Amino acid sequence: MSRILVAGGGVAGLVTAIALRHAGFQVAVFEAHPTGADGKGAFLTIMANGLDALRAIDAEHLVLDRSFPSTAVRMRNGHDRPLGELAIPSPDPEHGPRTMRRADLYRALAEEARRRGVEIQHGKRLVGVRHHGTVTAYFDDDTRIGGDLLVGADGVRSTTRTLIDPQAPQPEYTGWNLAMGAVRDVLPASRRDCYYMYFGRRATCGHITAPDGETWWFANVPCGERELAGATPAQLRQRLGDLFAGDQIGTVQAIRTTADDQLTATACYQLPTVPTWSGNGMTLVGDALHVASPSTTQGASMAIEDGVTLAKCLRDEPDLTAALHLYERLRRDRVERVVRTGFRKLGPRVPGPLQRLLRDRAVARRARNPEVDWLHLHHIDWDVSVTG
Ligand SMILES: Cc1cc2nc3c(=O)[nH]c(=O)nc-3n(C[C@H](O)[C@H](O)[C@H](O)COP(=O)(O)OP(=O)(O)OC[C@H]3O[C@@H](n4cnc5c(N)ncnc54)[C@H](O)[C@@H]3O)c2cc1C
Repeated sequence: MSRILVAGGGVAGLVTAIALRHAGFQVAVFEAHPTGADGKGAFLTIMANGLDALRAIDAEHLVLDRSFPSTAVRMRNGHDRPLGELAIPSPDPEHGPRTMRRADLYRALAEEARRRGVEIQHGKRLVGVRHHGTVTAYFDDDTRIGGDLLVGADGVRSTTRTLIDPQAPQPEYTGWNLAMGAVRDVLPASRRDCYYMYFGRRATCGHITAPDGETWWFANVPCGERELAGATPAQLRQRLGDLFAGDQIGTVQAIRTTADDQLTATACYQLPTVPTWSGNGMTLVGDALHVASPSTTQGASMAIEDGVTLAKCLRDEPDLTAALHLYERLRRDRVERVVRTGFRKLGPRVPGPLQRLLRDRAVARRARNPEVDWLHLHHIDWDVSVTG
């Protein structure tokens, strides 16, 4: 195989491109947006399994150099009383979860991909594909580009998924928007390697403070899918104020003082299973293939695992169809299990008093008995062949 096309230049597309280069392939990435990512209030945590997969392709430093450790989640109720503390599993203190700005990750991955010889073109939206032994990808600027395989890394609303299977399921709205923001020096200098997660009367929220004093917060807003889409920052702030009214929650102080240009809200989706992963010279990685609730904090890490595993399969199995079957065999159970984990975490949209009590007890129980080692301690050995 000589040339692989990747549609989508998010975490999944860029890591897949780097991994494919690491395996010796020629790669080109086509991203629909005219420019790179913007940084509006958005952050994310890469878990130990995501870091492990980056290490396999000598790219772990891209995260380590721009992030800080996030080792635990301190859970509290709306009265600011502790419910429990969850230590996020990691193989050792050096390689545990790390939190960083989303835009910093995109920028670092894009620079690294280019440095390793990946061609990246912006303003190219995939609209169609023709398969005739090789693939020709068609873009919305009336151009077409040929390759041996097209990897769809085009996110939740993947075009590639539908090109592979017109009957492919669409992601389901979870009933929540996730509001996020960043604000500097508002909260006391508490432990800085730790998430604070609050289970309030009507909703949940949380924050983490970076070593430089910037607090990054999130709030789960139960609402209609498009309800916050046109909200002004003032309306969004008001909505969040109402949601947490009467709760004694540290995060609320951060929400109140966040500047307009650092406030954002995104609808959250779940996609539990995609029956057909590959076909007609195409396959899928990242959110195009599986969408877990953000509460799993695994979307980016799973996307990284996908890209590295796919590259290994293509490197080790010369027959393309067999390589793509192998990729599915190695990944399907794991990614579907992660999405199911997230499904479990979604509570009723606005809990009543009894549901709140049961929820708080369940949270405390989970903190005492975390069952997540299968998830975070996953290891990919680049030097071991997947074909045995
Ligand atoms: C609010 C929020 C917070 C989150 N926090 C975390 C977290 O802390 N940790 C974590 O691991 N995960 C988190 N996630 C999930 C994580 O962000 C995603 O799982 C991850 O970004 C998936 O990466 P991706 O590259 O598959 O998709 P995306 O990041 O969506 O990238 C897809 C790219 O494809 C492009 N594209 C779309 N269509 C086309 C097309 N037709 N042609 C070409 N390009 C196209 C898009 O412009 C986009 O750049 C969060 C998600 C949300 C919504």
